[in-house]
Parts: sequence; structure tokens; C-alpha cells
Amino acid sequence: MKLQFEKNVDLLTHNTFAISAIAREFARIDHPEHVQEALEYVRQSKDNHLVLGGGSNILFTQDVDAIVLQNRLFGIELEKEDDMHVYVRVAAGEGWHNFVLHCIRNKWAGVENLSLIPGCVGASPMQNIGAYGVEMSSVLNYVEAVNIHTSEKHTFSLSDCELGYRESIFKRKEKGNWFITHVGFKLNKRPVFHIEYGAIADELDKMEIDTLSIKHISQAVIAIRSSKLPDPKVLGNAGSFFKNPTVDLSVLRAIQTHDEKIPFYPVDENTVKIPAGYMIEHVGWKGKRVGNCGVHEKQALVLVNYGGATGHEIFTLSTAVMTDVKNKYGIELEREVNVW
Ligand code: FAD
Ligand code: NAP
Repeated sequence: MKLQFEKNVDLLTHNTFAISAIAREFARIDHPEHVQEALEYVRQSKDNHLVLGGGSNILFTQDVDAIVLQNRLFGIELEKEDDMHVYVRVAAGEGWHNFVLHCIRNKWAGVENLSLIPGCVGASPMQNIGAYGVEMSSVLNYVEAVNIHTSEKHTFSLSDCELGYRESIFKRKEKGNWFITHVGFKLNKRPVFHIEYGAIADELDKMEIDTLSIKHISQAVIAIRSSKLPDPKVLGNAGSFFKNPTVDLSVLRAIQTHDEKIPFYPVDENTVKIPAGYMIEHVGWKGKRVGNCGVHEKQALVLVNYGGATGHEIFTLSTAVMTDVKNKYGIELEREVNVW
């Protein structure tokens, strides 16, 4: 069937912040042939475009004067396996958490710490999604994408993707150039457990387990996340609004002269990561509400829409938080969420 483009579509239900923003044109890509058709249409109309997955990492601060292509390509395919690994090719529209559950059912290890992250598989390389000491870079094999300007297909190897802490080539120098169609993963048949994050070890203790498995880790992560993070179905949010800054040791030492309890995690011998949530809390923003939006009461990294907030209001709130952190700690927070 020919691809349908709808005009003036409200994206309210297509972003987890639950922000109303009108897309000039909107198409749901649920068949591989639609990708080329959609890109041809974008090129002919010479308009802006936005590729959208689950909308869980985006803030609309204005209407979307562009053609929005929503990725709804599904499918998980086992490519090959050997004694140690399975190689899996996943269509970009698959729900990330569905994929994690599929891996756990099949005893394929590597993504269990990344349980319950919202959004689609196709967006996972965009910011190299990470949680509880694991990043998707540890299981990424390749990314298949189509160039939006030329329709050329390309496979990016792991190193081509230039993945870093919540970063990739797709967020930087190749921003807006590619429609990711599939992601290839290399998963482990013999699990290596990552339980060094304090909360996971505590949760596993409560579960009184005999023999640890990836299923237990997934269950522990799901329990912690459900108790701490606001459910976007109930309270609009996009997860962590800011990145945790990585700073030089000298910056840490300067902060310790006025805040000796500041937490930090070594990254290498010269740099440390400081939890942005701690600094936001200690400048007084945790749980604060401004109009229809605010800083979540349990997790200060998360900005929330109490209902009816505009993206502009949330963006303004984020600027106020960043200013106060800069004034007290001298650190410039960086937004993790993609702002349109
Ligand atoms: P979208 O928000 O739809 O898009 C994000 C960006 O990717 C946009 O720039 C978009 O243009 C681009 N994009 C999406 N799909 C494609 C594609 N197929 N091709 C090209 N470009 C594309 N993130 C973490 O890293 N760790 C967490 O633990 C985590 N927890 C979260 C918890 C909550 C409650 C929420 C709401 C969010 C959380 N996030 C977390 C953020 C978010 O879920 C992830 O970044 C997720 O990968 C975004 O997926 P999405 O499909 O919703 O992307
Ligand atoms: P938390 O456990 O309260 O810890 C606060 C921050 O300190 C984390 O963000 C984490 O940084 C860092 N941290 C904690 N223990 C660490 C350790 N042992 N080694 C290195 N760094 C450590 O965090 P939380 O808010 O409940 O989130 C738990 C995990 O889920 C984190 O990894 C977080 O990134 C992830 N998460 C991400 C999002 C998002 O939207 N990006 C949303 C919710 C949760 P890191 O963030 O660098 O891991």
C-alpha cells in the first residue's frame, strides 16, 4: 500500500513529555519499502524532516514545521551463533524493552541492565543508551541506515558509530543525515554480570536468590526503576533531562572546598563523573514546581510535565536549573534530551 502523509498532526501522543506540537506532515513507516518512498518525498518537497521513534528523548519547544517520519519497522532475526555469541538483527521500530525481554527469554546476555528503557531499538545508538553500568555499545555489532539526502544504504560498524557517554556520530557530525532501519547486536551466551551499582546489589539481596541469572538482574532493574522514575503514561517526562558531567579532578577539588560531601565516580585517573541530580537537589530544585512543570521529587535529573506544560516552559525551567548549578558549582550542565 502507498505511504500516507497526514497533514497537521498533533504529536501529543507521540512524545513521552506529552507536549502538544503540530507536525506539518506525518507518515508512519511500517514497511521497508516505505523508507525509500518517504525519503524520495522529503527530497522532492525540500522540507525539513524529523525521524521519530517512541518520542522518549525529545522536547518539542515549538510546532514541527517538518515532515515527521515515525519508524514502525518490526522484527527480530537470529543471524548466526557460535559457542560464545548470538548475532541478532533487529528492526528499528521494535520497542527496546520488548527486545530486552526477548533476549532474556532466550538467555542471550548483555542487555539485562538496560531493562525498561522506553523507546525504540533504532534510537538506541543515537545516544548509546546506558544504565546501571552498561551501555549498548558493549553489545552493538552494526547499524544499518539509509542516507536521507541520497537514499544510499550504509552499514556502520561499531567503531564507525563513535559511541561515547550518551553520544554518537548520529548526534554529532551525522546529525539528521540518516534513517536507521536496523541494529545488529552481538549478545553473550555466557553472561558477565554487572551488579556494581549499589541499588542493584541491594535489590538482589532482597530477592534471596540461589543462582544469579540475567532474568534476576532484569527484575531487579525493573523494580528499582519502577520505584524511582515517573511513568510517562502518568507524568510526562523524557528520563534524565541532563547528562552527568565529567570534570577534571581540579574542578572536583575546588567544589570539595565548599561541599565536602559531593559524590563522584572516577572515569580515569584525571577525570570524575559527578551526578547532576545531586547538584540540582543541592541548589534547591528537587521537587520544585513552576507552573505546569517541575523537577521530579524522587529524581532531580528528571523534569516533568504536570499536564498542559509547553515545551518552551520546560526549556525555560531547564535553563533556570542550569544557571543555579553553574553559580554554585561552576559546572555547565548539558541537556541530554534532543530539543526541537
Ligand atoms: P526518540 O525520542 O523518538 O528520538 C530520539 C532521537 O533519535 C531523535 O533525535 C530522533 O530524531 C532520533 N531517532 C529516533 N529513531 C531514529 C531512527 N530510526 N533513525 C534515525 N534517527 C532516529 N536513556 C538512557 O540512555 N538510559 C536510560 O536509562 C533511560 N531511561 C529513561 C527513562 C524514562 C522514564 C524515559 C522517558 C526516558 C529514558 N531514557 C533513557 C531516554 C530514552 O528512552 C532513550 O534515549 C531512547 O533510546 C529514545 O528512544 P526513542 O525511540 O523514544 O527516541
Ligand atoms: P543513581 O543510582 O541514583 O545514581 C546517580 C548517578 O550516579 C547515575 O546517574 C550514575 O551515572 C552515577 N552512578 C551511580 N552509581 C555509580 C557507580 N557505581 N559507578 C559509576 N557511576 C555511578 O541513578 P538513577 O537516576 O537511579 O539511574 C540509574 C541508572 O539508570 C543510571 O545509570 C542512569 O544513567 C540510568 N537512567 C538514565 C536515564 C536517561 O534518561 N538517560 C533515565 C533514568 C535512569 P550514569 O548515569 O552515568 O550511570
